[in-house]
Amino acid sequence: MTHDVIVVGLGAMGSAALYHLSRRKVRAIGLERFEPGHERGSSHGRTRIIRHGYFEHPSYVPLVRRAAAMWRELEAASGRTLMTVTGIAEIGRPDSALVTGTLAAAREHNLPHDVVTAHDLMRRYPAFRLPSDYVAVIQPDAGFVEAEAGIRTHLHLSAAAGADIRTGERVVAVEQRGDRVRVLTERTQYEAGRAIVTAGPWTASLLPELGAPLQVTRQVLLWVRPAQPELFRTGWFPVFMIESEHGIHYGFPLHDDGLLKIAKHHHAREVVDPETYDRSVSEADEAMITGPLFRMLPAAAGPVASAKTCLYTMAPDDDFIIGRLPGCERILIASPCSGHGFKFAPAIGQALADLSLTGRSDADLSRFALSRFVKAAAAH
Ligand SMILES: Cc1cc2nc3c(=O)[nH]c(=O)nc-3n(C[C@H](O)[C@H](O)[C@H](O)COP(=O)(O)OP(=O)(O)OC[C@H]3O[C@@H](n4cnc5c(N)ncnc54)[C@H](O)[C@@H]3O)c2cc1C
Repeated sequence: MTHDVIVVGLGAMGSAALYHLSRRKVRAIGLERFEPGHERGSSHGRTRIIRHGYFEHPSYVPLVRRAAAMWRELEAASGRTLMTVTGIAEIGRPDSALVTGTLAAAREHNLPHDVVTAHDLMRRYPAFRLPSDYVAVIQPDAGFVEAEAGIRTHLHLSAAAGADIRTGERVVAVEQRGDRVRVLTERTQYEAGRAIVTAGPWTASLLPELGAPLQVTRQVLLWVRPAQPELFRTGWFPVFMIESEHGIHYGFPLHDDGLLKIAKHHHAREVVDPETYDRSVSEADEAMITGPLFRMLPAAAGPVASAKTCLYTMAPDDDFIIGRLPGCERILIASPCSGHGFKFAPAIGQALADLSLTGRSDADLSRFALSRFVKAAAAH
């Protein structure tokens, strides 16, 4: 079977890439080993934070701006609500990485923001109980995007624009043969001019020749029934992140089911195999989240109603990886995770379609070049 472009893996990034290919009337096919909405990869658990004052590095800000505008375009194209603006409070000691990094990005890019003391934040949002030397950077334009619905929307619109979508079909090899790419699955083989591999946690095992030191880590998400739900109303309470001596914890306003989603960024750094890792959530896992967080957010304390594991695919520098497979200019790889990629999905999907079809993208992706690892590996 011949296509122009094959997309391998239809999670956050692959579904967005397929959508942008299909909009350009390219004969595109997407292959996914599970069913959309599955809970084995990185993109389930309903929501993901979107924030502009990017504490990881100010150079992400233009891509967040583009992604936020594109989430709105996707809403207009689909008629679904996919992004909710709630504002965000990023909280910690004034010298914490979260506060200093957020402020650096906000100042460099002139983003609207306020810095308030812990005392003022607690007056405004009585759910918090914070050490008196903490501060909060408040930004009005942050919020959350709908993760699973975002993927379903990209796939639905892709199919409507003519993309071929095959689910329950695992790819076992992706190879460049002259000016063609051959993709082998457990069932059959496909040929195309180009391929985009967005296999998330399975990227390194599918393409061992990649040469990028990606590591998969196990994360945990909890949904709790808060003691004082009225203090977490959506439309009033913001998304929040708190850096303390226990790491960075984060959470969302109340879902319409009355539950509060909370988690710890980098719950575990231990490397796992995405095929075999432990998907059960232990009491110790729960305590790593609820212990520190319920002390700083006592109004949230309440029974855990639901818990899930999820995977981060980490690059050693916590950035993304986007580039061509070394020696195979027709195979593009994208692993925009390191625990913070979802918000960018529409912008990265567009960039992948551009790069695949024209070799260029007007998004600045230089920070994510695969060559930063390939060169480093060659030097050793
Ligand atoms: C707990 C948690 C919280 C997060 N919070 C945020 C947040 O608040 N904000 C944010 O922006 N980001 C966040 N992220 C990060 C974000 O979710 C990821 O960056 C994003 O989901 C990565 O998408 P992906 O497409 O690379 O991977 P995935 O969505 O996992 O997609 C990969 C797909 O490839 C398929 N696949 C793999 N191998 C094969 C194969 N051989 N054949 C066919 N198909 C294959 C998989 O089944 C999967 O569907 C969070 C991640 C986690 C785990």
